[in-house]
Amino acid sequence: MKDQHEESPRQPLRAWLDFYEELGLTPLYRRPPRPGREKPTPVLEPTPAAVFPPVAASLPPTLSLFGEAAGRIEGDTLDRIRAEIGDCQRCKLAPHRKTIVYGSGHPRAQLVFVGEAPGADEDLQGLPFVGRAGQLLTHWIESLGMTREDVYICNVIKCRPPGNRSPEKDEIETCSQFLVRQLDVIRPRLICCLGSVALQTLLGKSVSITRVRGQFFDYRGTKLFATFHPAYLLRNPNANRQVQEDLRTIRQFLS
Ligand code: SF4
Repeated sequence: MKDQHEESPRQPLRAWLDFYEELGLTPLYRRPPRPGREKPTPVLEPTPAAVFPPVAASLPPTLSLFGEAAGRIEGDTLDRIRAEIGDCQRCKLAPHRKTIVYGSGHPRAQLVFVGEAPGADEDLQGLPFVGRAGQLLTHWIESLGMTREDVYICNVIKCRPPGNRSPEKDEIETCSQFLVRQLDVIRPRLICCLGSVALQTLLGKSVSITRVRGQFFDYRGTKLFATFHPAYLLRNPNANRQVQEDLRTIRQFLS
């Protein structure tokens, strides 16, 4: 006889639907399979350590990832950095992108969110975090009593990798200099890395986000924090408890 507490195969789906509904993500759709890709998309696990090597060595000599304000460029501005990026062809992602996704939000934000890379929606609109993961990030920001205009949102790299693959070492090494300069100009009180790519890039070393999320680090004179990427949470609703803990920690820090 079946144990009355045994989960039916439908229960996980119900739990997911309830979870999305709680987040306000009610319109659900099923993406049709692409030709030759009928298998379901694999679950996105937190990136294991050792995938992203330190990028500090690749930065221009004036920019060091560590130390109090080390190598800040005098008179730098967000507009100047964007102008220098121009129609960037510095790495192999350039031919694949539609739009450079520079970043958006308050130029003197107290809180900056750093994600991994633009996706398809971001590539079309030229704005960071505007797809389903972006809706969830907006929900997180509002739960902090803020709006997207109060914070600054950007990514480690500014062009969409083909097929939404993870950014590769050379792409991160080439593009992250702009992120470092953006953060130097904004000088937030807290940088929140969304996922392991952002965390490992800014820390300059391989760390497991599942081990260090919720902890504070020092980064060029400001505090660095990390939680899961919203896209990871969309695929792994069970991680919501940890994210809610992290949001409480951020709220306490900023208050
Ligand atoms: S990802 Fe960065 S370095 Fe590469 S082309 Fe885009 S803006 Fe340039």
